[in-house]
Amino acid sequence: MNIQVKLKIEGLQNKIRNYDYHYYALSAPLISDFEYDQLYKELEKLERENPELISADSPTQRVGSDITKEFKTFVHSTPMLSLANTYSKDELIDFDRRVKDLLSENEINDLKYVTELKIDGLSINLLYENDKLTLAATRGDGQIGDEVTSNVKTIKSIPLKVKSDIKNFEVRGEIFLPLEGFRKLNEERELTGEKLFANPRNSASGTLKLQDPKIVAKRPLDIFTYYFLSENEFLSSQFESLNYQRQLGFKVNPNFKLCNNINEVLDFCSEWENKRGELPYEIDGVVIKVNAFSHQKKIGTIAKSPRWATAYKFKAKQVKTKLHKITWQVGRTGTLTPVAELEPVFLAGSTISRATLHNIDEIRRKDIREGDFVIIEKGGDVIPKVIESVKTERTFDSVEVSSPTLCPVCSSKLIKNEDEVAIFCENNFCPAQVKGRIIHFASRLAMDIDGFGESIVNQFVDMNLISNYADIYDLKNKREILVSLERFGEKSVDNLLASIEQSKKQNFEKVLFALGIRYVGAGAAKKLAKNFHSIDKLMEATKLEIESVYEIGSSISESIKRFFEDQQNIKLINRLRNSGLKFEIDRNENEKDILSGKTFVLTGTLNSMSRDEAKNLIEKLGGKVVSSVSSKTSYVVVGENPGSKLDKSLKLGLKIINENEFVSLLESK
Ligand code: NAD
Repeated sequence: MNIQVKLKIEGLQNKIRNYDYHYYALSAPLISDFEYDQLYKELEKLERENPELISADSPTQRVGSDITKEFKTFVHSTPMLSLANTYSKDELIDFDRRVKDLLSENEINDLKYVTELKIDGLSINLLYENDKLTLAATRGDGQIGDEVTSNVKTIKSIPLKVKSDIKNFEVRGEIFLPLEGFRKLNEERELTGEKLFANPRNSASGTLKLQDPKIVAKRPLDIFTYYFLSENEFLSSQFESLNYQRQLGFKVNPNFKLCNNINEVLDFCSEWENKRGELPYEIDGVVIKVNAFSHQKKIGTIAKSPRWATAYKFKAKQVKTKLHKITWQVGRTGTLTPVAELEPVFLAGSTISRATLHNIDEIRRKDIREGDFVIIEKGGDVIPKVIESVKTERTFDSVEVSSPTLCPVCSSKLIKNEDEVAIFCENNFCPAQVKGRIIHFASRLAMDIDGFGESIVNQFVDMNLISNYADIYDLKNKREILVSLERFGEKSVDNLLASIEQSKKQNFEKVLFALGIRYVGAGAAKKLAKNFHSIDKLMEATKLEIESVYEIGSSISESIKRFFEDQQNIKLINRLRNSGLKFEIDRNENEKDILSGKTFVLTGTLNSMSRDEAKNLIEKLGGKVVSSVSSKTSYVVVGENPGSKLDKSLKLGLKIINENEFVSLLESK
């Protein structure tokens, strides 16, 4: 086995898993869909060439999961699959060929496709019993989704009651936020200093996962439905199904078409690639489905998507504008990033005046100069990027940029490590770093101080109210000054101070992450907290001991050692300790009997362990395994081919988890 290929595959799998987590669970993607899809295709290709290296948990083998563990779960009657996708029309012709290879001559003569707009939202399963909407669940991992009924019931275009001959059925569709609603929502968030949503898709998925249906009701979520499922299969095609859904009163997108051949499909794709900007909601492509259900059945499905459908995805939106200047932004760890200051231009729902250029090597490689016309892309609508400069329009006065030698914020001398592209400001007191560190400290995945966003941090640091993150906990002594500030009042100051107090409850792993030690991300902090139990133990640990923790390498251990050698950091930690932050894991977390008091019921076959092994693991952690479900059961672990215990658990509304969730539950302990 080629070890290089194995490492490459594992590296890609890990990267993609991390992107999936940010996209599906946190609704905050780190890269554009196009970049993601390129990485995904690279992994697919490598796995195709080396099938012995495909693991069951590879992202290519399973549907990206949006399960958050904050809702009850629901087992879908039929899996909710993803779709294969392509950005190329030639590949659509290949798709047509593959479909025909699986059909008989007569069937090919009858073959038709339905083309539908690919709505950029999140899929939902609506369960109707006796004509009434009784439950709504997200796609989850395809088998089990989050149950979000109360939130879904606030969406006005979803009928709570319908009149149908079938009575019990499921309707599946896409929940989305129209562009106007998205703009308004972000405007409000900007005013309150909350982090803006990257795009309408993320705002829709973030909204649906809120715990308070009253807030959901205030956001104008909408739906288009596309599948109708019932035990009695009386419909014979997708086209018929769409019309039937309409007849029942569901909101079906009107722009669907029955196409007689692949050329008509290609025309439909071109038409909507041009017209997408005219719609009041976002679409990211066209979905192409084989029309006849009998054909669909014959063609079948593979691990995570049907073979009878595919998505033609539109390329990211691009626009040309002038690059006036390249400035340098200093991050919390002192890294400098070049930023393109642009002639403001409207693209994909917002005006862009700045875009990232990554690093000086990238600027040189792409030969981008100040004064050039450049192509900007908002791929997946995350952070706008400069793709290239338009060399044919370059004028004689364009200016090549070089790496700065002094920090643009504090004027300290900059340094560059030999083996790194990035340049750094080493001054710990550089105001840009100070602000960056505090913003990180207060952020959602760290101390989660509600309302303590970027604009407030900037304001407080500029006014010398705080100059490091330990100062945050002394703000309660400056209440009078805070109340007198513009945009603040008694109530908002009290709310802010309450959020600061509340943050003291964050557990040790969050505190460790919040400290902002270079390379110690949320995942590494969790592993370190779990292994060392307290900051004192971590401080005492040798480099080797730190590296003995699974997946912790030398860059992290060196960075940790350096962080604790700095007396300023020790002083900050002591102040935070005196303020009451947690620098060791809670006794409960530390206890071995972490599942004590919890009862488990196992049903179906688990792939990674036998029943007895699962039972032993649960019991080792203090839990109990019982043979039948009751209202007192804490978790029902569902494997393949579950028995009647699952139906009973659903009726009782118990917490149902699949094998992956079960394993992560054990691992998190
Ligand atoms: P997908 O969004 O590409 O396609 C499947 C989904 O399309 C369905 O689940 C359904 O929700 C939706 N859909 C919309 N209109 C539809 C219609 N008319 N008929 C049927 N389905 C319709 O697939 P996915 O599995 O949800 O997500 C994978 C994609 O998400 C990737 O290809 C990538 O582009 C993106 N992604 C991006 C990141 C990132 O970091 N940027 C991370 C993970 C996934």
